[in-house]
Amino acid sequence: MLKIYIFTIFPQYFDCFKSVGMVAKAINHGKVSIETINIRDFAKDKHRTVDDVVYGGGPGMLLKPEPIFEAFDYLKSKGANPYTLITEPWGREFDQNLARELSKKEEILIICGRYEGVDERVKALVDEEVSIGDFILSGGEPAALIIVDSIVRLLPEVLSDERSIEVDSFSDGLVGYSNYTRPVEYRGMRVPEVLLSGNHKLIQLYRRWDQLQKTVKKRPDLLKKANLSDIDKKMLNCIKIDKTFQQFLEEEKLG
Ligand code: SAH
Repeated sequence: MLKIYIFTIFPQYFDCFKSVGMVAKAINHGKVSIETINIRDFAKDKHRTVDDVVYGGGPGMLLKPEPIFEAFDYLKSKGANPYTLITEPWGREFDQNLARELSKKEEILIICGRYEGVDERVKALVDEEVSIGDFILSGGEPAALIIVDSIVRLLPEVLSDERSIEVDSFSDGLVGYSNYTRPVEYRGMRVPEVLLSGNHKLIQLYRRWDQLQKTVKKRPDLLKKANLSDIDKKMLNCIKIDKTFQQFLEEEKLG
């Protein structure tokens, strides 16, 4: 079971997150535990202060080092040995590869910054700084929710159909293929005929074509890193000169 610890000054942020949907199910089935630790409980002074002014001047407050180090010592004293992340806007950009790496760990700690951030000395505890994108949040908690959600759904036996993971966007470096459900025709828009054909080989080809076409249109940056097979490359060549799937099939004598 993956153990996740979260250092925060707002543990209530995670109450709803832990009680609904896939995450709640994973907790109930013993696939993951998510323990929020209020660093305020580790502040020593009588007002339980977690923040202080910035040395050298400047706006705002910083999370003090002591409560975070004390909370960390407490975790260690319980025998925990977590891989430690801190949320930082300039950190390694969180993506599916990092989610996959983290889903293989046994214990993870996420330290959520607040205010202007944390005292730099806290970094002595940290294995990796993680960002969820180039924008500024008021705290690390929303970032932690995102990180934990995407890790938990990768854990074995969490999703009811784990094949979803293989067909999700980014799992093979491309965006996911388009999906349709009933009815076959809605407001004049029809489901592509090939998906109704029952021909699984053809459907597989069509979905690959759709993935490549969507990636070219919507996320061409992904193509540089994607692992492309020979048939992928042939499809891409056709897509780039606006050939249709049908024309591709005829050219490759696959129809
Ligand atoms: N003064 C900081 C911003 C602080 S925002 C700066 O100039 O960069 C407060 C906290 O929110 C940060 O310490 C961090 O923990 C979290 N945070 C803000 N934006 C984030 C992002 N894009 N990804 C991850 N965490 C973020």
